[in-house]
Amino acid sequence: MSALDTNIEKLNGFLDRFRTTGIPNRIAGADVPGSGGVFQTTSPVDKSVICDVAHGQAADIDAAAQAAHDAFADWRDMPATQRRKIMINIAEAIEARAEEIALCECWDTGQAYKFMSKAALRGAENFRYFADQVIQARDGQHLKSPTLMNITTRVPIGPVGVITPWNTPFMLSTWKIAPALAAGCTVVHKPAEASPLTARLLVEIAEEAGLPAGVLNTVNGFGEGAGKALCEHPKIKAIAFVGESRTGSLITKQGADTLKRNHLELGGKNPVIVFDDADLDRALDAVIFMIYSINGERCTSSSRLLVQDTIREEFEAKLVERVNNIKVGHPLDPKTEIGPLVTQEHFDKVTSYFDIAKQDGATIAAGGETVGDAGYFVKPTLFTGANNAMRIAQEEIFGPVLTSIPFSTEDEALALANDTLYGLTGYVWTNDLTRALRFTDKLEAGMIWVNSENVRHLPTPFGGVKASGIGRDGGDWSFEFYMEQKHIGFATGQHKITKLGAL
Ligand code: NAD
Repeated sequence: MSALDTNIEKLNGFLDRFRTTGIPNRIAGADVPGSGGVFQTTSPVDKSVICDVAHGQAADIDAAAQAAHDAFADWRDMPATQRRKIMINIAEAIEARAEEIALCECWDTGQAYKFMSKAALRGAENFRYFADQVIQARDGQHLKSPTLMNITTRVPIGPVGVITPWNTPFMLSTWKIAPALAAGCTVVHKPAEASPLTARLLVEIAEEAGLPAGVLNTVNGFGEGAGKALCEHPKIKAIAFVGESRTGSLITKQGADTLKRNHLELGGKNPVIVFDDADLDRALDAVIFMIYSINGERCTSSSRLLVQDTIREEFEAKLVERVNNIKVGHPLDPKTEIGPLVTQEHFDKVTSYFDIAKQDGATIAAGGETVGDAGYFVKPTLFTGANNAMRIAQEEIFGPVLTSIPFSTEDEALALANDTLYGLTGYVWTNDLTRALRFTDKLEAGMIWVNSENVRHLPTPFGGVKASGIGRDGGDWSFEFYMEQKHIGFATGQHKITKLGAL
């Protein structure tokens, strides 16, 4: 049996129960139907229905927020060592079910197994890392003054909402939920409607690993229903959101009446700048990896290549050759490098840029075509002859589509790199150290890698500037968001208190 057939057989074993029972909401440790009935989730591989999913609405969010509220005091007050132990148990349970998570994720989202087989393990790592932070999460600082001993302490903010997108949904959900739980918050999770499978697996795994009922609740549904209600709910104290920039703006508006604290991780149109003094072989590998892995459906993808004119021709020629060799295919085939795009809607959006590129006057140097009509497959695509004013250089396409733009000087490269609404990541390839220092200092991005692709390191801050977001994840930055700072001053003596009304 081929590796693909083996994976399909295993997947069918995992999906059988969902086909029978569908995916209910999980509220206070119980399965609950959606008050809006059900909607269906389909696979982008062959457009077949996977299963029914609870269609959660405002009433379901209200029940979940109440459950998170009721579970909060016990979770907050649980000794840190015990909370840590539960989180380690969750990490181990994720590892034990990594294959099930990976196969379900591939089938639900179209992501290639080659990359998703590691996504579940990264999810486990998110729990493990933040489990180890639990003990110091509440630690504050002692800031001495002449008359007072000042203590800054931190307390969890309360029940929080987590709203996640469909690209690598398991990894992104754990990225938000693990620090929230470590901080002592309880959670209502609203996963993306296009990818509900692994969110269900996560809440099951967490409860089986000892997470008390109501600490993590999952309500499925759509943005304008369940998502909006979550942002507006008065018992929810903060929203951790990952998704599009225009949705981030809605999240802010919807939370205004209840003065929500929001953390927004949004879109990107990230530049990779290749200077002619760089290690061009490594730069080529990284450029290709950062736009064509994960179907190009990644916020940190380097979707704009700025290449120095002295090497442009040779670099683009090598790119075309490699891009044409990328293997598009069934996501469960371990050799596949690009699977189908997630939904019909997203497929239509990505493919519309093939015509937009031509209308703008760019050249389609590779790809620019769909593959078959069984699912939402597209060829990896490269646009050349582009300039930064074109829509293909300004808009987030969010697929395996790269726009190449030439530059001649460092100043020009910087101006082009910064000429975008977004500011999530930037990648700089040069062997000139002083140029790297100058350039990264002026590059407008929350995260920059020099002579490297994106390598996530959990203790470092993750997040964007401009339309790419507000706030940072990772290390202690996560606790800044999920916790309140509290100052307490203790008098150390009899300092003078100004007397009013005293003769
Ligand atoms: P999206 O904004 O359409 O949806 C994200 C989530 O928000 C979904 O769960 C959706 O149901 C919900 N939602 C939609 N409208 C809502 C509303 N009015 N109120 C509350 N919730 C609402 O994004 P998507 O298409 O699922 O994901 C792709 C986007 O995510 C891209 O722009 C990508 O760059 C971004 N992204 C950013 C990061 C990051 O870390 N910066 C990471 C991954 C993805």
